[in-house]
Amino acid sequence: MSRILKIAIPVHVRKIFDYLPPPDCDVEKLQPGMRVQVSFARREAIGILVEVVSSSAVPLHKIKSATKIIDNESLFSNDIWQLAVWAAEYYHFPLGEVLFAALPTLLRQGKFPKEEKIKEDVVVALFSPHVLNEEQKNAFHEIQSAMNQFKIFLLAGVTGSGKTEVYLQAIAEFLKNKKQVLVLVPEIGLTPQTIQRFQERFSEKIIALHSGLTEKQRLNAWALAKSGEAKIVIGTRSAIFTPFPDLGLIVIDEEHDLSFKQQEGFRYHARDLAIKRAQQNQIPIVLGSATPSLETLNNVKQNRYHELNLSVRAGAASLPVFQILDIRNLILEEGLSQPLLTEMKMHLEAGNQVMLFLNRRGFAPVLMCHACGWIAMCKRCDARMTYHHRVNQLRCHHCESIKKIPQKCEACNYSELHPIGLGTEKLEMILEKYFPEYSIARLDRDTVKKKGKIEELLDGIQSGKHQILIGTQMLAKGHHFPNVTLVAIIDADGGFFSADFRALERMGQLLLQVAGRAGRVEKPGKVLLQTRQPEHPLLHELLNKNYSFFANTLLKEREQAILPPFIHFVLLRAEAHQNDHVMNFLEQIKNAISKISSGIKILGPIPSPMQKRAGFFRGQLLLQSKQRAVLQNFLRNAVPQIELLSEKKRVRWSLDVDPVEMF
Ligand code: ADP
Ligand code: ZN
Ligand code: ZN
Repeated sequence: MSRILKIAIPVHVRKIFDYLPPPDCDVEKLQPGMRVQVSFARREAIGILVEVVSSSAVPLHKIKSATKIIDNESLFSNDIWQLAVWAAEYYHFPLGEVLFAALPTLLRQGKFPKEEKIKEDVVVALFSPHVLNEEQKNAFHEIQSAMNQFKIFLLAGVTGSGKTEVYLQAIAEFLKNKKQVLVLVPEIGLTPQTIQRFQERFSEKIIALHSGLTEKQRLNAWALAKSGEAKIVIGTRSAIFTPFPDLGLIVIDEEHDLSFKQQEGFRYHARDLAIKRAQQNQIPIVLGSATPSLETLNNVKQNRYHELNLSVRAGAASLPVFQILDIRNLILEEGLSQPLLTEMKMHLEAGNQVMLFLNRRGFAPVLMCHACGWIAMCKRCDARMTYHHRVNQLRCHHCESIKKIPQKCEACNYSELHPIGLGTEKLEMILEKYFPEYSIARLDRDTVKKKGKIEELLDGIQSGKHQILIGTQMLAKGHHFPNVTLVAIIDADGGFFSADFRALERMGQLLLQVAGRAGRVEKPGKVLLQTRQPEHPLLHELLNKNYSFFANTLLKEREQAILPPFIHFVLLRAEAHQNDHVMNFLEQIKNAISKISSGIKILGPIPSPMQKRAGFFRGQLLLQSKQRAVLQNFLRNAVPQIELLSEKKRVRWSLDVDPVEMF
């Protein structure tokens, strides 16, 4: 009987490849999940053994022998193997690429773990837990009593309500029972405080998978988790693939955060995979947020998730007071109103810190000709270039193109070009002028590029070196700055005008998260919102009622408009240097699949909302169904047909299952 090895290779082809065992191989000892070296497309490649079978569709004499078996045992635990297989099917992505995405880089290159010490932060002393309030106690109790059961919790707690404290105390119970815990967080580099709080609480081995680790340390972290030595692993979305022999609990902090969805290549959602993994292992999972996603809230309504509520701030802190600043008809000094400047002065003179939120980096979003109105556009994108003053450049925030500031208008040759609108860089310069006696910290992608810079800025804020904090949404992420008493939102109107159906949800989440930085200890906090829509009913629901009221209104609107989560989307994107290649391909797909698409609504082909990006023309087909299973079934039949289309070779195309961005 012949033995054929089915091997997944990390290439973008939806296919498993056949090889014969290497000459000296003991086939009985092979396990799925071992690495195998093979020659592939005239080079040596590493693949993963998927299974051993006894026949092949390829004639035997045409099948090559594998070069060698690399491992003595599978690199994948049973649950991660199942998770990867499930993800490859659900996201319709090649299994080889999915399996590789689940491994540390050095394993993908054929290397082995070696002892490589991860620098452990020196902890002062271990801190003892807080005495929980009634709501915290209840949440803690429910989570702890779900040990060894699959149960999905939403820990919905206002900002500063002590969600992290609940995780910490629940985790302690799981550790006592010899279990390991996985904690997923949005952007680990932005919240060194969170990791520190874990380290100050537990004497067990904790691993933080942050971007400062070398590949060797990453591999070692993987090995420590796999051996059971590491008890807690904290990481961003890819940490969902960390192996654990005794996983007991998964926590997803800020579950609404977009960074849990990978936006290119293997477009998985770490939250959804985490739920799958919890189910496979029959363990509880806690999704925490002050501003849960509408998907999650809908799942609570359907009784699929169990909600735990923390309605007040922990300890002596209270929620900040909101004040809407109607800036219609007010004289604005570069975007700042007089009442805002006066309020800032008061808080600063009282020795407190003030935070200003503006979600636009650079000096100004537009550079315009004073004579003819020409606007500097990116040559490669349908987008304006942003004016950056200090580096004297125009930059495209979509494709990273950089240009010197032109001296003359490209349309009329006039030499007076004006920056229009306000970005964080300009805001900083204006405030330096207004408040020369105070130090300003600006946090945005431009100021934290250098390694170590973000820690330096955050330390400077904690120590009180800076009094005025300016930033983009980076400032909104989970920070605990005890001395911030005033938060100002410079422009609260952005979300009202977007074409994206999720814009209002995002705006509400962002506003509350930013506001949540104010008044986090005894000192009361205040939040000022500059707006030209002071009567907007949703703004009032958000500020005067609460997030869940606001979210419920949005959910009702989604239900009426039949939008997610009341329908399921798959976005098929295509791009090419020529627009007609894109549109022809999408047309061809539509024709090919319309016969098998009963129960599926197909929208398009249409150009993407940003039609040109980084030199590519882009278009899309939106596939929709009220039933996930119908959509999945359809894709299983449709994808092989798409692979056969003649126009395919002229485009790049991808599938995005449950997309969170529509462009
Ligand atoms: P969240 O994760 O909801 O933003 P945290 O857990 O960070 O909230 O708690 C906010 C602050 O309140 C932290 O400084 C924390 O130490 C403190 N805190 C949490 N729970 C309690 C409690 N039961 N009693 C006193 N202080 C608490
Ligand atoms: Zn001009
Ligand atoms: Zn561009």
